[in-house]
Amino acid sequence: MKGRNLFTLIPKVDELLDRENIKKLLEYIPRKIVLDSIRIEAEKIRERIKKGGITEEEVLEMINNLDRSIEKTAKEKNANKLRRVVNATGVVIHTNLGRALINRKIIEKIGEIASNYSNLEYDLERGVRGSRYSHLEEIVCQITGGEGAMVVNNNAAAVMLVLSTIAKDKEVIVSRGELIEIGGSFRIPDVMEQSGAKLVAVGTTNKTHLWDYEKAINEETAALLKVHTSNYRILGFTSSVDSEELFQLKEKYNLPLIEDLGSGVLVDLSKYGIEYEPTVQDSLKKGVDIVTFSGDKLLGGPQAGIIVGKKEYIERMKRNPLTRAFRVDKFTIAALELTLRYYLDEDMARKEIPTLNMLTMPLEEINNKALRLKRKINRRIKDDSVVVGIEDSFSEVGGGSLPLERLASKSITISLKGLSTQEFENNLRKYTIPIVTRLYKDKIYLDLRTIQEDEFNIVVDGLEYALNKVKEYKI
Ligand SMILES: *Cc1c(COP(=O)(O)O)cnc(C)c1O
Repeated sequence: MKGRNLFTLIPKVDELLDRENIKKLLEYIPRKIVLDSIRIEAEKIRERIKKGGITEEEVLEMINNLDRSIEKTAKEKNANKLRRVVNATGVVIHTNLGRALINRKIIEKIGEIASNYSNLEYDLERGVRGSRYSHLEEIVCQITGGEGAMVVNNNAAAVMLVLSTIAKDKEVIVSRGELIEIGGSFRIPDVMEQSGAKLVAVGTTNKTHLWDYEKAINEETAALLKVHTSNYRILGFTSSVDSEELFQLKEKYNLPLIEDLGSGVLVDLSKYGIEYEPTVQDSLKKGVDIVTFSGDKLLGGPQAGIIVGKKEYIERMKRNPLTRAFRVDKFTIAALELTLRYYLDEDMARKEIPTLNMLTMPLEEINNKALRLKRKINRRIKDDSVVVGIEDSFSEVGGGSLPLERLASKSITISLKGLSTQEFENNLRKYTIPIVTRLYKDKIYLDLRTIQEDEFNIVVDGLEYALNKVKEYKI
């Protein structure tokens, strides 16, 4: 048969759509995706014929496989762009990997709330319109000791709302050492500018004294702002002013004292051998009027910005039009309420909130996890080119919290003989459930602090997949 005529063997789109296998696909994959996949796969055959040097048998073979290749392409195109991964990096609050994990029990309850109608903005007692913020205010106050609270989309929005409400077109005094940037898109000076507040920076990068603040106070001053330098530390010749001292100034001049705490720790982590990080409760006790913090950093909940403090300020914020733009949805409210409830019992919080659970996990437990995973790997992967070990390693808190803290941990290490470790790591990331690891000095590290027990089989499958791939690559 001549090349040109081979084209006529390719089935028409309508014909393919009529096939049983393709009809099955159409039951759960949008028609547009199936059609695109048909065109792509048919085009591949056309291109192959154009290239020449192909027999009729070979073309028929490709056509025979057409159903399967269409199915594969359609499934790939239909797969979610946002999907689960295994975090084997040991960075607990990994902003790139979705920050805090939410307990499955909480997800089930969110499912029930979100797939049904809810009292999101309805007062069931009185049968009238209610406020979406009411569901969280009581529990936030109960845990932190604040008078009032509200929740917005993230902490950046919280800081902006606070400044816009309290200091629009007025001055806010902040230490130079606290003009921080968080993750590129959040810079204190920029957020202040956006809020309409005028930044008055005092002191120097390494030292700021109480009198630096005092000298800057005038009729235009609307607030004193303290920013927790979550993600960096200046060491050596330094001094900063504690909120306790700022409290004296605030009282003397009758100014609100605002603190952006960043992480939002609600339990004293130093009990568990982690460096002390100021808690929300401590800040409020020291007399700070308004504290803001994230929901998905050390708190271990959904993305949110929590504002807690004096009732009069909170009420003013609720009336700020920005609140509408920053408002949280029912998923966030449900997840946050359920996460916060665990905090009423610290042991429960440690057990049920994955972030706290991972951070406070005893080394012995991590080691036992490592032993169990290693056994599983050894049982499956019997290949002379792979050496599996267990090594001491360090996990990190992450999320711009406690930058100097290194948590002693255990990692499974993978070394390869005669195969590319870089290529292996690439393929782990390309596995159906991607596995994100650390590659250091030509060895792959899988930190057991952030790998969940129910992910062990995925890890083993992924390692096997990556190994097969690097071997193909070598050939
Ligand atoms: C992380 C952080 C923010 C930003 O919080 P998001 O919830 O990520 O918006 C702001 N301020 C401080 C001090 C932080 O640590």
